[in-house]
Amino acid sequence: MNLPGQRLLHQYVLRRSLPRCRRYSSGTQQAQKRTTSRFVPLALGVGAVTGLSVYFFFPDASRSAPTLSTSPLSPSHFTPSTVISNETAGPDTKLLEVVVPPHLLPPRDTADASASAFAPIWSVFIKDDDIQVERPYTPLEGVDEEGRMLFWIKKYPKGEVGRWLHSKHGGEKLELRGPITTWPWRDGEWDEVIMISGGTGITPFYQLFHSVISRSPDAKTRFTLLHSSQTPAELPPPRIMDRLTRFAAQNPERFRLRLFVDSLDGPAPTSHMPAPHVGRIDNTAIERCLGLDQRRTWLRRLFGMAEAPRPNRKILFLVCGPDPMVNAISGPFGRNFSQGPVRGVLGEMGFTSKEVWKL
Ligand SMILES: Cc1cc2nc3c(=O)[nH]c(=O)nc-3n(C[C@H](O)[C@H](O)[C@H](O)COP(=O)(O)OP(=O)(O)OC[C@H]3O[C@@H](n4cnc5c(N)ncnc54)[C@H](O)[C@@H]3O)c2cc1C
Repeated sequence: MNLPGQRLLHQYVLRRSLPRCRRYSSGTQQAQKRTTSRFVPLALGVGAVTGLSVYFFFPDASRSAPTLSTSPLSPSHFTPSTVISNETAGPDTKLLEVVVPPHLLPPRDTADASASAFAPIWSVFIKDDDIQVERPYTPLEGVDEEGRMLFWIKKYPKGEVGRWLHSKHGGEKLELRGPITTWPWRDGEWDEVIMISGGTGITPFYQLFHSVISRSPDAKTRFTLLHSSQTPAELPPPRIMDRLTRFAAQNPERFRLRLFVDSLDGPAPTSHMPAPHVGRIDNTAIERCLGLDQRRTWLRRLFGMAEAPRPNRKILFLVCGPDPMVNAISGPFGRNFSQGPVRGVLGEMGFTSKEVWKL
């Protein structure tokens, strides 16, 4: 029997489970569908990484994937995990720590870390049991040998899974599946990587910091993180900021950190961090971090010469955050599973799709 009410509920769950892709900010359902589509080219574009191909070939996993407590953690089924703690970490954010039974962790390739299922950057889908909807979240420090994962999770006023996760307490169960590759890091490919994030969009970059940047302070690639939050209190919690700040101070040639806030309203943050700059991440901020001569680029713009001078090194920009921020920095995601052309600030500066990746 399929009562109208049941049908409606089914349609609702179906609709709400469609967006299994990114959402770092508020938006419409249309935007959610758009973001869903972005995941597929990402998988294809980066070489059909194992986790993502499972995701690709089992698009209905949130509803059809079984929950198995005897098989290793995998993208093709849900694994039960237990909440260790769930602590407030900002006005709308929590640090959620969960543990999966260590014997359910897939074996790691110790000889070639980049071949491991846990090679950065990866995420897991967490299922909201009440409405059978899943969303991806990024373990900040990957998974340790005990099976622990730590997430920084934002709740949106009408967001489903974020609110549900905020209500969880220590000892409660969660189901998750993964790892799913968000974007595969490749050692030695770039001279300079500039990560631009807004809000919880910092989570994939923090995982890259934890797994790659902080582990090889002498490697040749230089990283810069430009991060923005609306107010100082909304900047990432000390668990994230303290380590970034300390490492940047000790390894200025390897890693630079610049913070931005829309305004200084509200309480001061408790983390140790560089004083945030008030304003948006814009062309001036990016030119400055590239070491471009600001007077020359300003004159070029004044005289309508579009392309800024290009640094003579291999640069990659990674952009992750709310849609309006991604749009302003790098142009919107495209239709039909594409990254879309590079527009926004980076497009105006002449950077191309070989140099820009929107996560
Ligand atoms: C690879 C990846 C990793 C991620 N990692 C993290 C992470 O570590 N931490 C994190 O916090 N997030 C992360 N995200 C984002 C996360 O997956 C979710 O998208 C986010 O938590 C919102 O999901 P939700 O179910 O709470 O909200 P949703 O229900 O999807 O709603 C999100 C927003 O849309 C609005 N909305 C909902 N329905 C409508 C509607 N009908 N009309 C208009 N607006 C509507 C809501 O008010 C809310 O503001 C990641 C995303 C990706 C793709």
